[in-house]
Amino acid sequence: MSDTPELALDLRAATPPWLLVHLREWMSGAGDKGHAYLVVSEDAEEASVFARQLAMHQLCHDLQNGMACSHCQSCRAFLERTHGDLLSLQVLEGKTAIGIDQVREATHFLQQTPMYGATKLLLVRDADQMTLAAANSLLKTLEEPSGDALVLLSSAEAWRLPPTVRSRCQLLRLPNVQKDAALEWLGSQLQVTATDAEHLLNMAQGRAVTAGLMTDSEDLAAQEALVASFPFLDQQQGGPPAAWSGVDVSVLLSALLAWVEGQVREVDADDFCHHARNWLLLHRCVAELSFRIKNGATPGRDIVIAELFRLCLRRKHAAFAEIGGRFLSSLSREGMAS
Ligand SMILES: [Zn+2]
Repeated sequence: MSDTPELALDLRAATPPWLLVHLREWMSGAGDKGHAYLVVSEDAEEASVFARQLAMHQLCHDLQNGMACSHCQSCRAFLERTHGDLLSLQVLEGKTAIGIDQVREATHFLQQTPMYGATKLLLVRDADQMTLAAANSLLKTLEEPSGDALVLLSSAEAWRLPPTVRSRCQLLRLPNVQKDAALEWLGSQLQVTATDAEHLLNMAQGRAVTAGLMTDSEDLAAQEALVASFPFLDQQQGGPPAAWSGVDVSVLLSALLAWVEGQVREVDADDFCHHARNWLLLHRCVAELSFRIKNGATPGRDIVIAELFRLCLRRKHAAFAEIGGRFLSSLSREGMAS
């Protein structure tokens, strides 16, 4: 159950100042803190980093002015990723969803006696990627946690969670960060120029913490090639652009969706009806495909890439309404039901 490697870095270094301010405010808030939280941000990495910070603060034995001390036995174990009272769930490598077996294991974990203090803590990263069965099996824990158990879910797409899960959690929505603050943090965090920081932020579609983690130059180059391929799809000869085969399907879907959204926004308001209809339909097709895959559908990679390319090519076709409609209805016929 490995976390993304970047989170093995010092958590403080990877945590932007605006999140620490928010954390401090939250920690100093009065009253009962509850036992189940849903941390929501448009940036999945930001939601995850904040949930991890919250976990560390909840487990610390020696809070200093309300903040985790970083040196007690619990904080050290947390930062070394060996804390026996903390379990992190996320989509396992090679899987497309968090399954019921993972949640059952977590439920069992929460019922055991804490080793360090009084609290057992479960983190669920990208909680919207739990299967329905997994989410349902978490309900009882959310409603009646054993002992002082605490559950922290994080998500960039909380609306995908079943209402029964959302209603059992206290919502902790992270504030939107100002672009200037994001750029300043990226510049100092990655030691890059203002131009490079802005480029990274654009590549990450405005999500600062995600941008801060884009340090692998090969990944970055692949992402850049991908984004650069979109405006030229109309002129693409033969098959899909080579850049599409260099990234995960989830990365392709997310980048394509963001690009299509940008195109819809740029359509002139005066002739919106005439020009935006096909962009909107293309957006719906990509979003629906993305939704099905996030909910456990496992179409072959080649099929997904070929279908996306075909849709993009035909956007200007007079019969695109029909083509898009057929694509949407085919999603459920071809084993893509969510
Ligand atoms: Zn501590």
